[in-house]
Amino acid sequence: MSLFQIDRGHDGPARVGRIKVGEKELKTPVLAGPSSIQGSHLDYGTISRLDSNAESPMLVTFSFFSRDDSTDLASTPDSLLIPPVPLALSELGHDAIALILEHQLEFITQSLPPDVSARVLVRIPSDCSEETLSKYVPQFVKLGVLGAALSFDGLLGMNDLNTLRIRALLPLQWLVVALGRVSPSFIPLLHYMGFDVMDMGHALEAAAQRERLWPTSTEHVSTVSEARFCPCPSCSSIAVRKSFPTSALELHNTMVYHLILSESQSAMRSGQLRWLVESMTHSSPSNATILRMADTSLSGFMEEFTPTSGPKHLPLIGPESYNSPAVKRFRERVSERYTPPEVKSVVLLLPCSARKPYSDSKTHRRFLSAIDSVPGIRGELAEVILTSPLGVVPRELERMFPASSYDIPVTGTWDFEETSIASQALVTHLTKFSEDSVVVAHVSGGYMDIVKMAEPEIRQGIIYTTVDQSPTRSDSLEALKETLRDVHSGSGKTNPPSYLQYILRSTADYQFGRGAGEILVPDDARIRGKPYGTILCKVHGEQVCAFIGDTGMLSLTLAGGKLIRPLERSWVRFEGDRAKGGSIFAVGIHKADTSIRPGDEVIVLNSSDEVVAVGKSEMSGREMCELTRGRAVSIRHKLEA
Ligand SMILES: [Zn+2]
Repeated sequence: MSLFQIDRGHDGPARVGRIKVGEKELKTPVLAGPSSIQGSHLDYGTISRLDSNAESPMLVTFSFFSRDDSTDLASTPDSLLIPPVPLALSELGHDAIALILEHQLEFITQSLPPDVSARVLVRIPSDCSEETLSKYVPQFVKLGVLGAALSFDGLLGMNDLNTLRIRALLPLQWLVVALGRVSPSFIPLLHYMGFDVMDMGHALEAAAQRERLWPTSTEHVSTVSEARFCPCPSCSSIAVRKSFPTSALELHNTMVYHLILSESQSAMRSGQLRWLVESMTHSSPSNATILRMADTSLSGFMEEFTPTSGPKHLPLIGPESYNSPAVKRFRERVSERYTPPEVKSVVLLLPCSARKPYSDSKTHRRFLSAIDSVPGIRGELAEVILTSPLGVVPRELERMFPASSYDIPVTGTWDFEETSIASQALVTHLTKFSEDSVVVAHVSGGYMDIVKMAEPEIRQGIIYTTVDQSPTRSDSLEALKETLRDVHSGSGKTNPPSYLQYILRSTADYQFGRGAGEILVPDDARIRGKPYGTILCKVHGEQVCAFIGDTGMLSLTLAGGKLIRPLERSWVRFEGDRAKGGSIFAVGIHKADTSIRPGDEVIVLNSSDEVVAVGKSEMSGREMCELTRGRAVSIRHKLEA
C-alpha cells in the first residue's frame, strides 16, 4: 500500500504532504539522493542495491536491459519505482515520447503485479507535448500510478522551462519528483512550483569536480587556506589538513541542499516563499531567466494556488515582483471588480506611504485632516493611492492583502516599467468615473510622472495641487484644501452613503465579484463599527457579514451566504445533507467554483443545493474537486442538524 497525502497549507503551488510506502513514511517536500542525515531524504536504489534498514522509502530505478528485475519486487515493499526507459529512444524526436510512455504503460501492466502500480512514478520527458500528455496521463491514473519523475538538465533554459510546464499539467494528487542536475539555488523555485521530491545527486558530481556548493554560488576548492569559512562539521574537521578529501566535499554539498530546502520550507510557512524565489534570481542570470519565463507562461498555475491572504510584511524588492501572482491578482481584481459609487464626483490621487495601511502613516494623516477640514466633501470624494507595483489602491481597499502589507524600497524614483504599470492602472481606474468628475492630483516626483504619462488618455479634467514640491508641505496642503473647497459641489446627495458602506461594498465586490456589494450591503442595511476595526452589517435585523480590520476581508454569515448565492460564485458543493464538525474534506466535494483560491471566503452547498455552511477555503477550487484527501473548507457558521 502506498499513499501520497497533501496536507494543509499553500504558498503558490508549493505544498506540504506525506508519502507512505509500506511501513515507511516521509514528509514532503523532501530531497532525494545521497545524504548522511537519516530519515530525512529518499535514497536511490536499484534492485541489486537495496537498503532494507533505511528509515525512508527508496527511489528505485529499473534498468532497461534487465526486464526480469520485476521478479525481485517482493524484496522492495517500501520503495517507489521508476520504470525503465529506453534511453536511445529519447534522441528519436517527438514520436519517441509516445514510445517512451507506451513502453512504461506496458511495463506496468505486464511486468508488475497489479497492486504495485501505486508505487510507480512515471518518467515524462521534458519535450513531451500537452497533447501527448493528455492522451497518456489518464491511462496512468487509471492504473493507479502514484506520480511522475521529471528531469532537469540544470541549464535553466527552454528545456527546464518545458519541464516546469509539464509539472503544471499533471494531476494535482500526483507526487512530483524533480530529477537531474538541480543546483541548490534552484531548490526554492522547484519547491514553489509544487515539486514534492528534489534530486540532490549534483552534490556528488560537484564534489568529484572539487566544487563546494553554497546556496547561491559554487566555489572551486584547491587549498584549504584559500577556501571560504564553513562551520559545518565536515569542513571544520578538515580545517587543519592541506586539501579537501572528496568525501568531505560530498558531505558539505549535501548539507547545503538540506540547508536551502529548510530555508525554503520556513519561507513557505511564513508566506514568503515567492520572496525567497525572487531573491534567488540574483544568484545567476539563468535563475532570473527561468523565473521570468515561468512568470510569463505559467502565471495562471502559480496564481491558482496563491493564497488571498498573506504575511504582515511582504517584501517586493525588484522587477521580479511586478508580476508576482499576488500583486498581479490585486491589480486585476481592482481593475475588473472595483466599481466606485455614483456619487463620487471628485477623485483625489495621493502618493503611497512606507507605512501600511496608508491611513496609519504620518503623511496620510495629514492628507486626511486636510480632507476633513472641508465639510461635506467626503461623501463625493474618491481617494486613490498611486503605488508600485500594485498600481492604484482605492482607499476602501487599503486593508486588503497585499495592499496592507507590501514593503518596497522607497527611493522616490521609479523605473519605466513600474511607471507604465501604475499609469495604465490609473487610466483604467478613471474610466469608471463620470467624465464630469474632477481629478485632483496631489502628487509629486515619480507619482507625478505616472499621472503625466496617463494624462493623454484621461477624459476628466485634472487639477494639480503641488508644484514640484512635497505634497506634505503646508503650502501644498493649503492648496489641496482650497481646491477641494472649490470643486465641492454641495449639490450631491444630502445624505450620501456612509464611508463604512463604501468599505463593505468595495470589499464585497473585490472578494466575490462585481455586484456582490449591492446585494450584501443594500441601501437599507444597518451598519455599525469603526472604519478600520470591525464593521457589522445587518439586513432586516439579521447579520449578513462582518468586515475584519486586521485582514481587510469580509466574513459571511449563513444569511450572507444565502444572499450572494444567486451570483454563482465562491460556492462549494459537497455530497451530503448537513455539514458536520469544523471542516469539509475534499473527499466529499465533486464540484466547486474553480475560481476559488486558498484563503477565500466560500459558501458550502449540500447535494440539494441549499446553503448549509460558510467558511474559509483551505485549497483552490480545482483541488477541492480533484483531490480525494485533505481539508477543503474550515467552517465558520453552519446550519445545525
Ligand atoms: Zn561545510
